[in-house]
Amino acid sequence: MSTQTLPDHVETLIIGAGLAGLSTALHLGPAHNLLVVEANNYVGGKARTERIGDFLFDVTGHWLHLRDPGIRALIFSLLGEDHFHKVDRISRIWSHGVYTEYPFQANTFGLPPQVVHECLMGAIEAARARPDAVTPAQEPESFAEWIRFYFGEGIARHFMVPYNARLWGVDAAEITSRWCQRFVPKPKLEDIVAGAVGLNAGKMGYNAHFLYPKQGGIQSVSEALADAVGRARIALSLKVTGLDLDTRTATLSDGRAVRFERLVSTMPLPWLIDTIERVPDAVRAAKGTLRATPVTYFNVGVRGALGVPDHWVYVPEAEWPMYRVGSFSNAVPTMAPPGHSSLYIELADRTTPPEALVPRVTEGLIRMGFIEHADQILFMQARHVPLAYVIYDFGYTAGREAVLEFLSARGVQSIGRYGDWNYSSMEDALIDGRRAAGIKP
Ligand SMILES: Cc1cc2nc3c(=O)[nH]c(=O)nc-3n(C[C@H](O)[C@H](O)[C@H](O)COP(=O)(O)OP(=O)(O)OC[C@H]3O[C@@H](n4cnc5c(N)ncnc54)[C@H](O)[C@@H]3O)c2cc1C
Repeated sequence: MSTQTLPDHVETLIIGAGLAGLSTALHLGPAHNLLVVEANNYVGGKARTERIGDFLFDVTGHWLHLRDPGIRALIFSLLGEDHFHKVDRISRIWSHGVYTEYPFQANTFGLPPQVVHECLMGAIEAARARPDAVTPAQEPESFAEWIRFYFGEGIARHFMVPYNARLWGVDAAEITSRWCQRFVPKPKLEDIVAGAVGLNAGKMGYNAHFLYPKQGGIQSVSEALADAVGRARIALSLKVTGLDLDTRTATLSDGRAVRFERLVSTMPLPWLIDTIERVPDAVRAAKGTLRATPVTYFNVGVRGALGVPDHWVYVPEAEWPMYRVGSFSNAVPTMAPPGHSSLYIELADRTTPPEALVPRVTEGLIRMGFIEHADQILFMQARHVPLAYVIYDFGYTAGREAVLEFLSARGVQSIGRYGDWNYSSMEDALIDGRRAAGIKP
């Protein structure tokens, strides 16, 4: 618990020292009377790096995409452009015992001929059935139907539907197509055909390139932001446990109280509602409809080099307990000690205790060619993120809007990936903070 002296009254109280909270504080400026309260004993939230021996692990892959010129300039001004490697994505899909290029829908070449045929015929039939120019109103609302509408039955069955069910922890029919507009590459039929015969050379998707710190993992970004905010303005190991919006008072986990004029919260939206006193029943009910998926993953230390170069590999088939295997050291060797490599393994099986999955995961790593022998694995440690992915189900929009409207009417800004309750990136969290501080891009 923090023993630092805290002000009993601030102009702006910020809940959470993840990227959204730190960005808010930084953009409000050094003269602003503010306090950031953070439950963990470290800054960064999900953008943090854990040390196991001489290995460094982020909370699974935390690859940085900086498209906003202002945010890019900010990060480079804090750390220097040279702090970052510019990495060209190496990412594939492993299914039917072979690797194919990402994205699956544009690269079925190499799969068994009957699978390629099914994917191709499905895509052709889907294209024939679609209007030439699709209006938003013509797009199917369910993600499962959206997949079939654009890619056809074969691609849906062999990758898109099972993979997404494993990632989101719910069937694609339960998810609206709303979330995927930005993240799912939508190749033209010509590209799907070219990819089926091995002619697609170009990289597709929003993440064809990314930045990654040469040293210190993604935590180095969070630490630089915290330094720029000023450590004395950040109280660690303190949780906001109660909020009275009438008296504008926050109660902290050690019993202290802080009064505020403005509140910017980055804690998960449902938890925020649980923390506020006297919430109307309708808002509480709306909060109850908000769903998120947890993720359990393994941090793995490996002796020797890995047998494949990928930064991450998608695993759509149900016979394997993991839906994605990634490697920090394949992107940046300093994430593992010399002569060693590191992996993160995200588990689709959310019911079996992770320890019981180790033998099957190990077998998968050997079959996928990451390692040759099980004795190369030095450790495989499980970690858990209770809220990882917000679920865009059919109640999402109404529930989220009812909660956010209530907060906005009470003068609370709820921002960041979990505060705004969305599927967003580190850069989005930084942008949210800038917006909350009232700074225009
Ligand atoms: C598995 C996974 C992989 C990801 N991969 C990528 C990627 O490759 N690239 C990318 O750009 N983004 C990635 N992201 C998204 C990225 O992590 C987030 O967008 C970003 O870090 C969110 O920052 P935030 O500040 O909004 O939230 P958080 O990082 O969650 O910060 C919120 C903070 O609030 C604190 N808090 C909560 N409750 C309280 C309370 N009551 N009192 C005080 N403090 C509290 C928490 O401890 C936390 O530190 C990934 C996310 C996950 C889960």
